[in-house]
Amino acid sequence: VFTGVKLYPANATTNSAAGVTDYGKVMHVLERMEKIGMPFLMHGEDVDPEIDIFDREAMFIERYLSKWVRQFPGLRFILEHLSSKDGVDFVRSAAPQVGGTITPYHLILTRTDWLGWGLKPYMYCMPVIKTAKDRAALRKAATSGEACYFLGTDSAPHPVAKKLSVNGIPGLFNAPVAIETYANVFEEEGALDRLEAFASLNGPKHYRLPPNEERITLEKSPWTAPEEVKVEGPDEKALVYRGGETIEWKVVAS
Ligand SMILES: [Zn+2]
Repeated sequence: VFTGVKLYPANATTNSAAGVTDYGKVMHVLERMEKIGMPFLMHGEDVDPEIDIFDREAMFIERYLSKWVRQFPGLRFILEHLSSKDGVDFVRSAAPQVGGTITPYHLILTRTDWLGWGLKPYMYCMPVIKTAKDRAALRKAATSGEACYFLGTDSAPHPVAKKLSVNGIPGLFNAPVAIETYANVFEEEGALDRLEAFASLNGPKHYRLPPNEERITLEKSPWTAPEEVKVEGPDEKALVYRGGETIEWKVVAS
């Protein structure tokens, strides 16, 4: 059973070498998805080499997505892992047809954290972490309660050897601390009462699925995140986002 289709532009992120190179070729797929009510998920970046890496999301919107929303008015879109103010603003302007997910790390990091005091390879992800202005827009959007923004962790446990390489691969493994990190951001923004909508209700609503019946309980109780976890393969480990840091919130029951 397929519930959705995600677009990966060729070479936009890890394992996407066989992605789409010519969008003209997939327009009939979008037409069909619009007819049958299947949502369209996107890694929304234009990887034209002429485009600066920090503008990839904005240019994908300008060149493609802004046209597709008019061309396929009945299609529901999800712009995954929003990373810029341009992305946030576009989703708001195109809601409810378009929804956008936001990762924990795009709510916390800036490119200065990533590049400003030594290169932090584990912070390298696609779309890349952007400026403090972008982060502010993302935090405001996530904690606004607006139904068009919802949780998406985009968690990629790549082996350390592939991250710390001459040609390191993108991906930020945050699953072990994701919901706890969102909780901290919502607390800092005085919006804990909106965390449930962001994490559990807005997404299913956009997908027209019933919300999950199961519940988790979060408690403010500090713990230390593991620095790394074992992943598949002999002696393979993945670095954990916020590994070794004190995590303020803890899942106490699920
Ligand atoms: Zn992606």
